[in-house]
Amino acid sequence: MSVPLVDLKAQYRDIKPEIDAAIQRVLENTSFILGEEVRRFEANYAAFCQVKHAVGLDSGSAALDMALIAAGVQPGDEVIVPSHTFIATAAAVTHRGATPVFVDVEEDTFNMDPGRLEAAITPRTRVILPVDLYGQPASMGPILDIARRHGLLIVEDAAQAHGASYKGVATGNFGLCGIFSFYPGKNLGAYGDAGMLVTNDDTVAETARLLRNHGRRDKYEHLMVGYNFRLDALQAAILDVKLKHLSDWNRARRQRAAVYDRLLADLPIRLPTVRPDREHVFHVYVIRVARRDDLARYLKARGIETIVHYPIPLHLQPAYKSLGYKRGDFPITERLVDEILSLPMYPELTETQQEEIAAGVRDFLAGV
Ligand SMILES: *Cc1c(COP(=O)(O)O)cnc(C)c1O
Repeated sequence: MSVPLVDLKAQYRDIKPEIDAAIQRVLENTSFILGEEVRRFEANYAAFCQVKHAVGLDSGSAALDMALIAAGVQPGDEVIVPSHTFIATAAAVTHRGATPVFVDVEEDTFNMDPGRLEAAITPRTRVILPVDLYGQPASMGPILDIARRHGLLIVEDAAQAHGASYKGVATGNFGLCGIFSFYPGKNLGAYGDAGMLVTNDDTVAETARLLRNHGRRDKYEHLMVGYNFRLDALQAAILDVKLKHLSDWNRARRQRAAVYDRLLADLPIRLPTVRPDREHVFHVYVIRVARRDDLARYLKARGIETIVHYPIPLHLQPAYKSLGYKRGDFPITERLVDEILSLPMYPELTETQQEEIAAGVRDFLAGV
């Protein structure tokens, strides 16, 4: 038996008639740029997130760029970012000529630790940029309190957490604006690159709509210098079909996580922690284990694919050498990156496959 990390083919097989019809519709009407397909998906995604506005963009990374422009981040400003995340979170800060300032994460949730946040705030801090890593919302209550006390804005990187919630409030609602990625492997994935900015702020939405389309009001009247960061109509049509299934898929992910929890419960590894005040959507299922690389190799030999999200913390990335951080600056992040391993996780994963994976982990730990 072989088990991939994600199985996009299985998902396509399940919804092929709906997807093919949507693609066909766009090909027939040849309205490829913005238009009705994008408007419809934006409206449906805004409703899904319970936000006022959703602005379709061509990637989650572009959405982060738009969000920080809308937040008024200027060269010389500082933006606080968790040390354990995908590089796109910090890159958007660097794109503005601003400086990412890293903070360590909570041992149990892998997310920005509010307890370490205030020590990172300086007179130059403008934005706090928490990430809902792996599908679990960051500790938004305390983060919002600190932001309010210091007069700082929050931009939420919810790229991995479509449909997750904190105290019943959906991701994307926790700051000036939030961003989502529709990279194919995300919980809601396009058939190419795509992303979204969501906000309850009219001005931010208007700015993002202008910036993504070269600042256009009319075809050749430009109110500001912008970009081409538009969401493709073809991707919007595909995403709108998939959005109808997202809640079921998220439920299936949570159920698969519960199966892993049960199958792996008695082993000397650390399983994901879900705080009781939030709902996790398990973009990935991450265990912590000693001799992680050996386990990954052992599972690979049995046909089971795993990956490490992410092996090198941002403060130790060659790209961020100039920031002057060193090993030892973020001890929790540095410890966990040597132990984390993402097991296969997708809604179509079968219990038989999960039993196979659990048996692999068990045999490895028993020295079989
Ligand atoms: C995927 C991801 C992004 C970037 O999204 P793209 O659509 O790939 O540009 C940003 N932040 C996090 C945490 C992500 O996982």
